[in-house]
Amino acid sequence: MAEQYCPNCKEKGFVWCLDEDVSSYTQWFCSICKYHAEESEPLESVCSECNTKNFIYLKSDGEFFRYCTNCRYKTKAEPW
Ligand SMILES: [Zn+2]
Ligand SMILES: [Zn+2]
Repeated sequence: MAEQYCPNCKEKGFVWCLDEDVSSYTQWFCSICKYHAEESEPLESVCSECNTKNFIYLKSDGEFFRYCTNCRYKTKAEPW
């Protein structure tokens, strides 16, 4: 699986996994800074900055935001 840019450390160590036993949400982990976030899959949408479908809805430590794994654009979002 291809590693993506991490929203926390900006390095290419961000990977996802899905384990239905743990959570129905996709889990994202950064192998470099150990950052962790959950993704709400159905809300994936097109990034307004680069126009690719890499704009995902993430939750981490009570913070909700949208993040583009392609161009690293990040914006605050309403809670799920
Ligand atoms: Zn990181
Ligand atoms: Zn983008």
